[in-house]
Amino acid sequence: MKIDDSGCLFWCGTHNANGYAIVCFNYRNYLVSRLICWIFLDLDVDNLKIFALHNCRNTGCINIKHLYMSDQSDNMQDRYRDTPHWATKKTHCKRGHEFTPENIYWAEGHRKCLTCKRMQSKARHDKENEKRRKEQGTIETTDLNGNVVIKAIRKVVHGDAHI
Ligand SMILES: [Zn+2]
Ligand SMILES: [Zn+2]
Repeated sequence: MKIDDSGCLFWCGTHNANGYAIVCFNYRNYLVSRLICWIFLDLDVDNLKIFALHNCRNTGCINIKHLYMSDQSDNMQDRYRDTPHWATKKTHCKRGHEFTPENIYWAEGHRKCLTCKRMQSKARHDKENEKRRKEQGTIETTDLNGNVVIKAIRKVVHGDAHI
């Protein structure tokens, strides 16, 4: 489970095509958000007339504080439940990475490219490390998953900080 700045809890397991966290139980798929509401709010999971809605608009979010029950799905929720037309047409992100199930995550009801996100955080990391390297003579490189792959520390000897 991951938590983001807005407090949304992201399910690291399976998501359905609309970005909802799902879990398989007794050969049936359940929306995790419904199960959470069942546990904390006594939702009858088999009563499909009661919806577990997100007030944070993150369909993949399973934070009980962001969930509420309603006997009608609100318009916004409807919009997110049915994949928007523009999203179904798009098969690649703006940088040309393919939208495969492994390469997408959902934020604010939209599909986002995981590769781009990793590239961005790697670029940020590299920038920070470059700054650190200049300051302390430290070099650190991360792979696309953010793991440290090379870490070498050179002491500034005789005022020479080159690596
Ligand atoms: Zn949330
Ligand atoms: Zn991308």
